[in-house]
Amino acid sequence: MEKKISIAIDGPSGAGKSTIARRLAGELGYYYVDTGAIYRTVAYFFDLWGIAPKDLDGIRRYIDELTLGIEYDDQGVQHMLMNGMDVTEDIRTQDIAQKASLISAHAIVRDLLLDMQRSVARKHNVIMDGRDIGTVVLPKANVKIFLTASPEERARRRTAELQAKGQKAVYETVLQEIRQRDYQDTHRAVAPLKKAGDAVEVDTTGMDVEAVVAAIRKIVEEQTGKCV
Ligand code: C5P
Repeated sequence: MEKKISIAIDGPSGAGKSTIARRLAGELGYYYVDTGAIYRTVAYFFDLWGIAPKDLDGIRRYIDELTLGIEYDDQGVQHMLMNGMDVTEDIRTQDIAQKASLISAHAIVRDLLLDMQRSVARKHNVIMDGRDIGTVVLPKANVKIFLTASPEERARRRTAELQAKGQKAVYETVLQEIRQRDYQDTHRAVAPLKKAGDAVEVDTTGMDVEAVVAAIRKIVEEQTGKCV
């Protein structure tokens, strides 16, 4: 099989990873893999079973009951399947995001997801976003980007995004949750959020989407020799 190209985009919540990755994937004709959605699906599953994200014994006991599926529709949109049920929309709440951050700290959960993420990248050209893509999942990715922005800017963007979907979101609460997730994601023992040594850091504070897309496109073109 021909060697596939992979682009890793890591960074904290609300840095704009998914917006940018989705746009570029569309332009390049690559698969966009949102790995946060996979962790959210795990969190959603245990939430339905009434198992707290920190309850490692409970997670160990029921993890074999979970069958995860990742599918792409005709528009290239990723769908998450939990035991065959499409939960793509159900997992997009702040509550599940927070639970995903806690549950993703367990090695048993991370190990379960590793093969799934790598197998998509083996079969397709991908832009994969997450926290540990450039460091752990695809350490040999062709391009690695570390996307950041100030917590205040990320909270502003996330609040607007949630409100646009009709969810109740208060800026101060969202900022507090973002700070808490940043802390949890950077301080966990297994695969913490950190910039890979060979990643290019882009701070998007004060930049609009078009400017960020242009900046990332330039890096991708320089590093893959491919015009986007
Ligand atoms: O990207 P998103 O905000 O949807 O991710 C939800 C949570 O899943 C993150 O806060 C993080 O703890 C976890 N995650 C992770 N590794 C990834 C992607 C997400 O630990 N590659």
